[in-house]
Amino acid sequence: MGLDYFDTDRVSIKRRNRLGLISTAGWLLVFWGVILVTSQVQALQISNKISPRNRERPARNSSDYIVLHTTESSKGSSAIGKLQSRGEAHYMVDTNGHVYRIIDKHRVAFHAGRSMWNGRTNLDRYSIGIEVVGFHNKPITAAQTRALKELLTQLQGIYKIPDERVLTHSMVAYGAPNRWHKKSHRGRKRCGMQFATKSMRSALGLTSAPAYDPDVRAGRLINADPYLAQVLYGSPREQTTAVARYNAADAQTIGKGRSAWDVARDQYNAATTLYTFPDGRKLRGNQIRDWTSIPAGTRVTLSGDSDENPSEGLQVVGTDAPNASGIAGDEVRKSTTIYFMPDGRVMRGDQLTLAQIRALPASTRILVGYIFGGYISKNRSAYDICGAKWKHPSTYYKFPDGSIRTGNQINENSIPQKTLVLFSN
Ligand SMILES: [Zn+2]
Repeated sequence: MGLDYFDTDRVSIKRRNRLGLISTAGWLLVFWGVILVTSQVQALQISNKISPRNRERPARNSSDYIVLHTTESSKGSSAIGKLQSRGEAHYMVDTNGHVYRIIDKHRVAFHAGRSMWNGRTNLDRYSIGIEVVGFHNKPITAAQTRALKELLTQLQGIYKIPDERVLTHSMVAYGAPNRWHKKSHRGRKRCGMQFATKSMRSALGLTSAPAYDPDVRAGRLINADPYLAQVLYGSPREQTTAVARYNAADAQTIGKGRSAWDVARDQYNAATTLYTFPDGRKLRGNQIRDWTSIPAGTRVTLSGDSDENPSEGLQVVGTDAPNASGIAGDEVRKSTTIYFMPDGRVMRGDQLTLAQIRALPASTRILVGYIFGGYISKNRSAYDICGAKWKHPSTYYKFPDGSIRTGNQINENSIPQKTLVLFSN
């Protein structure tokens, strides 16, 4: 069946008009959709599990990349519910090769999270996201390989996406400074890394791949994981060696040279991540405050139910770290570090001196890696300020009365003028 057969353009035209987009474009998409259906190979088994979020997602302005993910779960039945309710992918490829459509392919899906490629950030705006049921470091099934290959062929054909722009989530995801890394860094995720190996790409019919990380090379990010870089860009031999390291018996255990971040990445402080200490005590990631004293031999168990792209969100001086540099690292004075001052003002890092930052009292709240979007007015909507992210859980709204809400807690008509919008970079 062709990819466009079930697209739900028609029901959502009205919604997009309200967001300020042109309905003619929508109808043209329906028209071309019908044309494409007749021209496509009937090889994919595809059915709809359309997200309830689908209709509120705007159309992408461009479709330059396909980003491949692994669900980090063994069963599609356990992954689909989360992907569907949050609208986190365009497609999911189940272990039997069946493909589910979750978000219309021309709309924005929230799959890449904090992401950068070749200087562009927020890759959701430019990319299609495909979740493959399975793990970043375990082979997928033959049926999945066949289905993914066909799905890629169709999507690459429709959007004219060359093979070297079929990327993995681990290639594009990056992290803001945290306890372990003072700078913005690559290595936030290993998601989908197997789709970077030479053997997997050739099985998928992809004849070219990115040769290096453009953002690390340009100095926009540091490389926090040399082994991941070997999987993504190394020779076949380097790839095999690096994957073996991830699969080693002690890879899930904290020890010398292996921190909680090394094992769990952006899931290190998630409620779904379980730490089992050598004495048998168990704590969840969100229950741990002191990350410096986790004993060697602590086992880390990750869950497929975790949030694919957790937002670091508001961190608090005195609670999450003793001072601002413990939270924002080397980026304390960057324009993308946002301070909620105790007196109610909201300031960017580049508006403060180092002395002022050092003097910030406990309970000062900080966002790292955020854009100061400015204020909503009669002529400037939340959508004008941050596009599809206006309803994203990582987007923060500071209302004129001082209250703070996130994108998933608001609706279009409830945002007063002079509300400040802050959204993830
Ligand atoms: Zn992913």
